[in-house]
Amino acid sequence: MIITKKKDFKEFLESIRDYKSFFLIGCSECASLCGTGGEPELAAMKEALEAEGKKVTGTMLPKTGCQTLGTKIELKKDKEACAAAEAIIVMSCGAGTQSAVEIFPDKPVFPSNDTLFLGNMTRFQMFDERCSLCGQCILDKTGGICPVTACPKGLLNGPCGGTNEGKCEVSPDIECAWVRIYNRMKKLNRLDDMKKPLRPKNWAASRKPATLIAREKEEVKK
Ligand code: SF4
Ligand code: SF4
Repeated sequence: MIITKKKDFKEFLESIRDYKSFFLIGCSECASLCGTGGEPELAAMKEALEAEGKKVTGTMLPKTGCQTLGTKIELKKDKEACAAAEAIIVMSCGAGTQSAVEIFPDKPVFPSNDTLFLGNMTRFQMFDERCSLCGQCILDKTGGICPVTACPKGLLNGPCGGTNEGKCEVSPDIECAWVRIYNRMKKLNRLDDMKKPLRPKNWAASRKPATLIAREKEEVKK
């Protein structure tokens, strides 16, 4: 899931200072789980904006904010409330915000969240970064632990000289990724696999901006 955190409200207010009326869009998926863009947060934002003398013409919680077409269809029922707003506030991730930019080409769109990383929820509203979207997954070779993400240096073939009693030299709060990988491979009886060096990564696989057409080609009917 995409991990977001709320922007500082004072700084956010500064970004919207030139506008008086807003339509608010959250997201039922990641932003709801992060507590940054679900029903309670939409209601709290409405109240906070109204306390600042702003007008909220409506709020909407799309199923998946980054699904541009689906969000556009869901917003049809709020056509008038959207038209009455000078600007749109999006309470999801940067991708959800840019869905709104496409849906509302003539209105300013403001994000109320900062988008941080792709992560796992390990406990309620506690998130850990697990994947850096490198475009060429090597988890099959590292016992399912990602060194690109879990090692601050992204080392691919064993630990650096700073590893210390299982901890990372960058912070004693972080377990050394390569010690974790070694322990896991040992448990899986796959230590021999670690003798084969990993090839240098093809960083071009994570070139931005990326585009992927995942659907199968439609069958051409004769
Ligand atoms: S190797 Fe790449 S794709 Fe696989 S988990 Fe790590 S960053 Fe993500
Ligand atoms: S101590 Fe381990 S996790 Fe930290 S930078 Fe070195 S190899 Fe990476």
